[in-house]
Amino acid sequence: MRTPIVAGNWKMNKTIAEARELVTAMRGELAQLAADGKIEIVLCPPFIAIPEVAALVKGTPLRVGAQNLFWEAKGAFTGEIAPAMLNQVCDYVIIGHSERRQYFGETDESVNKKVRAALAHHLKPIVCVGENLAQNEAGQTQAVVGAQVRAAFKDLARDDARGIVIAYEPIWAIGTGKAASGAGANSIIGLTIRGTLAELYDEATAQAARVQYGGSVNAKNGAEFFAQPDIDGALVGGASLVAADFLAICKAARA
Ligand code: PEP
Repeated sequence: MRTPIVAGNWKMNKTIAEARELVTAMRGELAQLAADGKIEIVLCPPFIAIPEVAALVKGTPLRVGAQNLFWEAKGAFTGEIAPAMLNQVCDYVIIGHSERRQYFGETDESVNKKVRAALAHHLKPIVCVGENLAQNEAGQTQAVVGAQVRAAFKDLARDDARGIVIAYEPIWAIGTGKAASGAGANSIIGLTIRGTLAELYDEATAQAARVQYGGSVNAKNGAEFFAQPDIDGALVGGASLVAADFLAICKAARA
């Protein structure tokens, strides 16, 4: 049995004060939902708010994640953040989000470097993969997503691979209000993502890895995704900024 995991990607939203307000509004109910281990809930604020959010959820089952990291340990890398800085305050880190790939030049190769750096510092990666609209319409989804998974997991040992969370996020569904269908996302996750992990490792690894769906998940459509056998929770953008919506999604995802 895989424990579902719902992560809220706040992106570049919320000041420290706003982060405090949002977490304070939902932490009690979220912590109750996660108390018996039937769901894992991760909050991913902007870097500057991470220590505040980590302090607010300390002692609860809620987890904190970052939205990015750099692979070098330290040094002259202006504006970047090192794994050993994050692992003081985070358990998870999102890697290779499509916005990072699209606007900040992240590549399959840099994703793999970041995954290795995270693992080396006991941070659990949430690796994002997904096709854009043109690729989807051209029938290239399986090829694109399979290649992204292969690249992200390049040269990773099986034990490391099992601990990585993958988020399948079709780019055309992110922030657009046009979510994929539950069955469509389930099929890409089951056949392509788990299929690729089975080729790279074995069937047990493919079945052990947790794979989220992401892309316009909201309080109403969450249940459709969570009812699918291969979908283990969600990576949530916009709806994670509204306490009632994020709570509703987490309730729906609870096993
Ligand atoms: C995301 O940013 O990972 C995401 C899925 O965004 P949204 O839920 O807003 O589509």
